Amino acid sequence: MKQRQRHHTGPYDPQTITRAVTHIRLEAANAGKLTALDDLAQVYLALCQQYVTLFCTQERPNKLRAPLFTTPLSERWHRVAIQQAAGIARSWRTNRAQAYQDYADDLLDYQEQETEGTLDAGVQEPAWKEWNVPTLRQTCIQANANVVVLEPSQDSTFDYWLTISTLAFRKQLLVPIKLADYHREALKGKTINSSVTLNKRGDGWWLTLSYDKAVPVHTAPSAPVVGVDVGIANFLTSSDGKHYGTFYGKLRERQKRDREKRRRKAKLRACLKKKGVKKLPSTSSKSGQRLARHVRQSINRAVNQCFTEHPDAQIAYEHLSVATMKYKARAMNAYLYASNLAHIPKQLAWNAAKRGVAAIKVKSAYTSQECSVCHYTARANRSNQQTFCCVVCGYSTHADLNAAINIEHRLGDEELRACRGRKAVKALLMQRHKAWKQQNGWP
Ligand SMILES: [Zn+2]
Repeated sequence: MKQRQRHHTGPYDPQTITRAVTHIRLEAANAGKLTALDDLAQVYLALCQQYVTLFCTQERPNKLRAPLFTTPLSERWHRVAIQQAAGIARSWRTNRAQAYQDYADDLLDYQEQETEGTLDAGVQEPAWKEWNVPTLRQTCIQANANVVVLEPSQDSTFDYWLTISTLAFRKQLLVPIKLADYHREALKGKTINSSVTLNKRGDGWWLTLSYDKAVPVHTAPSAPVVGVDVGIANFLTSSDGKHYGTFYGKLRERQKRDREKRRRKAKLRACLKKKGVKKLPSTSSKSGQRLARHVRQSINRAVNQCFTEHPDAQIAYEHLSVATMKYKARAMNAYLYASNLAHIPKQLAWNAAKRGVAAIKVKSAYTSQECSVCHYTARANRSNQQTFCCVVCGYSTHADLNAAINIEHRLGDEELRACRGRKAVKALLMQRHKAWKQQNGWP
């Protein structure tokens, strides 16, 4: 089962979570039926791609845009394609804008260090590489009730009938749906959403159904705050000094083995290519995928444990940008680590919604460099990865713990929240440091 949550409510309002029931196989009652679906999908995807490109390059994404391209699809299917394309383009634009902001922050950071003369040897100026427009490779149709209708079956052999409009005018496809016991259990007593997703994987078609559920939040705004720092050495560190999960040890060993295997494979490929061999062994790695799954499971366990041990607290966690993730994952297999790191905040948000706990994102800028006692903010406070040691007041502790305490303090810090960009955050922190020095009679 997959889950999703909606974000348009406040942290103390009831959260609506959408639970998806996946992997429901479309019964191939007769081969011809699903061939009609294949034909439809081909035309649908091509059209959807045209709108994705349009919405990524020329127009703002608009779910209700008037049809522009010609297609053999019905007008209803045409509208569904526009809607899906707008969704894809919107998230692509958001991610690109975020990445560009990260790049701008990186560049600022670089220039700052260059002026200070504190650049590490071998560090290069950040460069921006323009993103490609997304290409729809997988067959995925997000349909609504205008084109696909799900109805309970009166016949006891099947649970539902799926009625799908096809390319042929007024000709509909009737596909029987048989649920597995665990699907039936998951859907018992629920109102199924009218939008459904159809996926083609391998030789089969699969259906995803979903239902909504409202979860009240039981955390009061006055509840104690626990800050949570996200990292590699410790997946989570809470501001009361506990650590949950780690990438080190077993996971890291597996990752090393996997990388070695991929290196050997790449060598083999290069060698075969030289010899003019046409069909080369694939570069994708099964063990790599298994490892990624294993990491996600370890993360889920760590997040679960953290919530279980803080049932009455509200959780503050960082808004992790690509740049922060890269920074945290540096000197390692950046891509693998970074993509896994991104799973942690998602998991935190989901767990909070599911449990009815308030979890609030705060700014991540300088959480690892700011002294949680005197607010002095500098790279020099981090003499190594694990230790934080303030060069002004001498406060010294585990680096992740110092960050978690900063994160805790940032919940409800409206002044900091209002800062636009890293530069403004740093200026504010240094201003607070100055105030701290005056208050404490520091020379
Ligand atoms: Zn300090």
